Amino acid sequence: MQLLDGKATSEQLKQEIADQVAAIKAAGGKAPHLAAVLVGSDGGSMTYVNNKVLACKRCGFDSTLLTYPDTITEAELLAVVAKLNQDPAIDGFIVQVPLPKHIDEEKITLAIDPRKDVDGFHPENLGRMLLGLPTYISATPNGIMELLKRNQIETAGKHCVVVGRSHIVGSPMSVLMARNTNPGNATVTLVHSRTPNMQEICQSADILIVAIGKPLFITADMVKNGAVVIDVGTTRVPDASDPKGFKLRGDVDFDKVKDKCSFITPVPGGVGPMTIASLMQNTLLARDFNQRKK
Ligand code: NAP
Repeated sequence: MQLLDGKATSEQLKQEIADQVAAIKAAGGKAPHLAAVLVGSDGGSMTYVNNKVLACKRCGFDSTLLTYPDTITEAELLAVVAKLNQDPAIDGFIVQVPLPKHIDEEKITLAIDPRKDVDGFHPENLGRMLLGLPTYISATPNGIMELLKRNQIETAGKHCVVVGRSHIVGSPMSVLMARNTNPGNATVTLVHSRTPNMQEICQSADILIVAIGKPLFITADMVKNGAVVIDVGTTRVPDASDPKGFKLRGDVDFDKVKDKCSFITPVPGGVGPMTIASLMQNTLLARDFNQRKK
């Protein structure tokens, strides 16, 4: 078994981005600028947003963190989005999800200018991805593609099973793996909570990508010998022995599955850091796009 070290791979990617940004600045150009909108005080969301701000620093980007209490109204948040859409200093921005129940996430996503939607969640960007047109590909699936590519994992002609069909992970992941690209060119099966013969399908996977948010769901008897296993799941599981009071758990029972795999991602340290590095890639793209407009 070989560990797919997302932390190391993401550091390499961020260094490459930092080098490009240093060259831009040395030539008198403007650094990319990412804004992040955080609503409420959910611990997980605060950590994710803080890590994104830290990654901006690491890459030489400017960043702006806008925080609002969870009492903000939908209309007020839409006004924040409209202002960011218009702000020429901001190349791209994200609105961290989940949002409080009284705010319609779909409405917020639709209000973001697709040209600044570095999360790649806007329907226009998802549609462009489906058609293989240049776009911001959602950070998590894009990060997984980069991880496969940089670790020279062969995907062409392989059977890839994606578990979970969310708009931000499972569905775009299945599209990217089926595309005529490298990585890609896989034969893809997408399974979800209504799939009756999960075990049998997962067992037939050369590449198994799991994004369901159910800790330790994938057990050794669901994994083929020699499979590549990518674990997207990150759930906070209470753990009194940990100073933070919880441990992050993936969807794969890592300890029992690892010896059957050719490659496997750990949690933490696998897909998570790649997602953030991928957001930095999208922000650099957004900066280039904004500069061409001028
Ligand atoms: P989501 O929107 O909740 O979607 C979960 C998907 O899993 C749904 O399609 C659901 O099927 C499916 N599912 C649930 N239980 C299942 C079961 N028993 N068997 C088969 N399929 C099942 O989740 P998400 O946003 O994609 O996130 C999934 C996990 O990835 C979460 O732990 C999240 O925290 C993590 N995540 C990590 C990163 C990262 O950077 N590491 C990024 C994004 C998400 P139905 O559609 O049939 O309900």
